[in-house]
Amino acid sequence: MTKEGHKYIFVLGGVMSGVGKGVVTSSIGLLLQQKGYPVNLVKVDPYLNVDAGTMNPTEHGEVFVLRSGLETDQDMGNYERFLGRDLVNDDYMTSGMVYQSIIARERTLKYGGKCVEAIPHVRDEIIERMEAAASYNGSRISVIEIGGTIGDFQNILFIEAARVLKMKYPEDVLFVMVSYLPVPGSIGEMKTKPTQMAIRQLNSYGVQPDFIVARSKEPVDEKRKEKLSISCNVLKNRIISAPDIKSIYDAPINFEKDKLSDALLDALKLPEKRRASLAAWKKFSLAIANEKAPRVNIAIVGKYFDTGDFVLADAYLSVIEAIKFSAAKLGRRADITWINSKDLEHGGAKATAVLAKFNGIIVPGGFGESGIEGKLNAIRFAREKKIPYFGLCYGMQLMVIEYARNVLKLKDANTTEIKKSAVDPVVDVMLEQKKHLADNKYGGTMRLGVYPCYLKKGTLARAAYKKELVEERHRHRYEINQAYVKPLEKAGLVFSGTSPDSVLMEIAELPRSVHPFMLGTQFHPEFQARPLAPHPLFTEFIRAAISRKRKK
Ligand code: GLN
Repeated sequence: MTKEGHKYIFVLGGVMSGVGKGVVTSSIGLLLQQKGYPVNLVKVDPYLNVDAGTMNPTEHGEVFVLRSGLETDQDMGNYERFLGRDLVNDDYMTSGMVYQSIIARERTLKYGGKCVEAIPHVRDEIIERMEAAASYNGSRISVIEIGGTIGDFQNILFIEAARVLKMKYPEDVLFVMVSYLPVPGSIGEMKTKPTQMAIRQLNSYGVQPDFIVARSKEPVDEKRKEKLSISCNVLKNRIISAPDIKSIYDAPINFEKDKLSDALLDALKLPEKRRASLAAWKKFSLAIANEKAPRVNIAIVGKYFDTGDFVLADAYLSVIEAIKFSAAKLGRRADITWINSKDLEHGGAKATAVLAKFNGIIVPGGFGESGIEGKLNAIRFAREKKIPYFGLCYGMQLMVIEYARNVLKLKDANTTEIKKSAVDPVVDVMLEQKKHLADNKYGGTMRLGVYPCYLKKGTLARAAYKKELVEERHRHRYEINQAYVKPLEKAGLVFSGTSPDSVLMEIAELPRSVHPFMLGTQFHPEFQARPLAPHPLFTEFIRAAISRKRKK
């Protein structure tokens, strides 16, 4: 399904990883969308996993779930947040996915007995996938981020596919190289050589970049722009300065200082459809970075930080962003503190007392046994001390278990994820999941993606959403055991959101008369929180946290 005239912008990384290709990709998407063009953003992950779902968050960061249920890289979350819309399966590919379809085709004789090889078969499969993504939802421009750095073995076939696409449609394909310019302390001067070398390497693949996004501590000065321009064969107005910034949401605004969107349209030979207005985005980016705004202190009680705080932040990326969006909307700045749930497991009241100073507590999603008792202690503390609490997925299941243990007095209440023989399996494996687990089928088999949820009148949830029916994204294998719903309700817990047939409990909460905000969702609302459209449940949670702060 070739789409001639469709434009492709490839974003590649040079010198080192972690220079912000994802933010560049997202920003280009936002800017071109602002100019009136429908854009789709594509993430190419060169690793062999078929999707990101089976990777440990400490390895890979957050698994971002698309509306369809596909488990993807956290960059896809940034893409959706910048574009303000949902992306689809075709917008994501890994080497694993590409090889899986080729091998399946080979095993069913679809190659007609031919020898199946990297070139042309893998390359062409990649091109087909890129073209399929281009043809979706009326997209006019695809911005495709190729993961990894120039020089990696893993991404060569993807760059080769991009090169061939450029050969097929020379007018319609651009390459943007995001590179790093170090300022070594001993020299104190910004150096362009590593970028020159990276571009030479890219040239050896037959690819010439059209733009260089020059990441560095400082803005790139005219002299260095000239040097890069001449040595790298890139027009000077296509060398875009990208100094370190406070928040990623400033990136598109910064790029416009170098007129990136005009230069891109010019290079693509596309007219400007409308003057880009970043007014709403600017207002948001100022609000989110406002150091002077009054604080609201939120504790996240989690466990994925055994390798340092840095990794934790990545593992819960969408949760953090969702908190920040809602806080900014309410004119506050969120101070987020990581609490390792393992530290709350022992030491009783003394250990949990650290939570007293927070305006709100979140227990996010998670898997397995470690740190669970600590999370339960945190939840009990939040309930008893009336601190606003928001539980996400596992955080909701554990909220229900805590209630069963300490209010219903079912001492052995548990989830069968942790204790198969629990006397009171208040949270139990979903029927359809049993077979997957028995067969060791872990990849892409959870209850994933969007499902409808019906909201009961007169509840916190209904008041927050101001609607009766919502759709939210899921990622779980366990559920609230229906046998315990009635007893829990009798004891005061409210299941305010359920599947439309009332079988699955999607939201649990305590009435406002009992607690200012104690609510948990089986789904992950964080995946649908957007800069210009914060998520209503996060906003109500932060509002409750602010009013606790006022009362204190
Ligand atoms: N481990 C729980 C389940 O599988 C919760 C999953 C989650 O928090 N994403 O149901």
